[in-house]
Amino acid sequence: KPIIYWLRRDLRLSDHPGLFEAAKSGSSVIPVFVRDALVDSLGAAPSLRLEKGLEAFAHLLEDKGSRLVLRSGPPLEVLRELIQTTGAEAVWWTRAYDPDSIERDQRVKSSLKEDGIDARSFPGHLLFEPWTVETKDGGYYKVYSPMWRAVKDREVADPLPEPSSLRSPEHWPESENLGDWGLSVAMKRGAEVVSTYIDAGQHAAEARLGAFMSSKVEGYKTNRDRPDIDATSNLSEYLSLGEISPRRIWHAGLRAKKQGKEGAEHFLKELVWREFAYHLLYHTPQIATRNWREKWDAFPWKDDERAKEIKAWKQGRTGMVFVDAAMREMYVTGRMHNRARMIVGSYLTKHMLTHWKVGLKWFEDCLIDWDPASNALGWQWVAGSGPDAAPYFRVFNPEKQLEQYDPDKKYRRRWIAEGQSSPPDTALSYFNAIPISWGMSADDTYPDPIVTAEEGRDKALSAYENRDF
Ligand code: FAD
Repeated sequence: KPIIYWLRRDLRLSDHPGLFEAAKSGSSVIPVFVRDALVDSLGAAPSLRLEKGLEAFAHLLEDKGSRLVLRSGPPLEVLRELIQTTGAEAVWWTRAYDPDSIERDQRVKSSLKEDGIDARSFPGHLLFEPWTVETKDGGYYKVYSPMWRAVKDREVADPLPEPSSLRSPEHWPESENLGDWGLSVAMKRGAEVVSTYIDAGQHAAEARLGAFMSSKVEGYKTNRDRPDIDATSNLSEYLSLGEISPRRIWHAGLRAKKQGKEGAEHFLKELVWREFAYHLLYHTPQIATRNWREKWDAFPWKDDERAKEIKAWKQGRTGMVFVDAAMREMYVTGRMHNRARMIVGSYLTKHMLTHWKVGLKWFEDCLIDWDPASNALGWQWVAGSGPDAAPYFRVFNPEKQLEQYDPDKKYRRRWIAEGQSSPPDTALSYFNAIPISWGMSADDTYPDPIVTAEEGRDKALSAYENRDF
């Protein structure tokens, strides 16, 4: 009797506990991806990235003599229909920790169990499942550092190898065509540009991990804040779709640490930020939708998406170079450097007094590494409304930050074409990616700041001081 393996954000063969177990069982395995409401609700860039990820994963399975079956519809209906046509008695999957997936999975699990099906979920998306990390009082962590101390020396099992083979069923159920799903359509003109920056799949992830460990981890601690240097692992998009396991990365980091590579411990700490984000999303799901600290509900956030200023922020024409360079980097590559994420977030929520949810949603649409937990934590951290957040009164000065972290003006030149006599392709490609309706051209005069560094700081601080925070 075949096992249906329901794939979601775990598009890999290597270190895939559930799939490994399914292969080991000796049963035939039917890998299935369901395009459900959660897939349809993805933003434009994550949806494009998913298309590439599914393509790469299907090839990986084909190399093993298996296949990826694609189906659309409510998961329970789709799975029941597949059970009927294939005679499967088991449906297995890797656990997810965001509230929408949890709700869906619980519903599917209990219904399938009522049908007498062996419905089973496995770990794999995280190093430490949220309920396995507790404070001394049995609660959850609201602050990162104690969570780091609680987990840093934990034994993490070695990553599993790829299953040596995946037995095919006697008859493969029909599959839909990935191309027909149109996952890249919402990106419009941007899809072609962003696609040139995407190298999806497990093999590409492994290669990035290898390159990072051999040449970048040493200088990671000092260089990771420099958006002008390619100094970080760039693994987030792979982690987001599960093309590589966090456990695989953790062990590579541990090895580098043992070899005395300087930045290794810092890198491991960053991986635990991802764990912390999921820990919080699991224990306080409202982190993705509401101010984590409720008193921030009274703050005079602006949130009119039609406002000129908000459009300027999204379109990378605030006149604040660091902000605009970063917003353009994101539009062209689907990624944004971490320091830049903090700067654009700070400018939006403080200088522009705009609700962090406006930024969260725009990122959700534009990032190929979009992740429900890290995005929510990142925005609430930047805005000051979250747990363990940057205090609101600490306002980044985007001009000083640019001087400090882009000392040779490389980042600026890479992304801002206006004012350069021969701008590089990166800066020009922005104009090929954005909608024509934005009416922007490389020959425009670069705008004056919509809010200057000092003016914004004063406005933010006085809005803050007038409240009882
Ligand atoms: P590296 O520096 O190489 O770090 C290794 C890994 O550690 C990353 O791949 C990531 O999984 C994890 N990590 C690093 N920094 C953080 C962090 N601050 N929070 C959580 N995990 C972290 N990350 C996402 O993956 N998806 C998002 O949607 C996302 N949105 C963000 C929004 C804001 C406003 C901010 C401030 C940060 C956001 N981050 C998000 C976190 C961080 O910016 C990215 O994880 C990082 O830039 C990815 O680059 P990298 O893989 O080269 O990271």
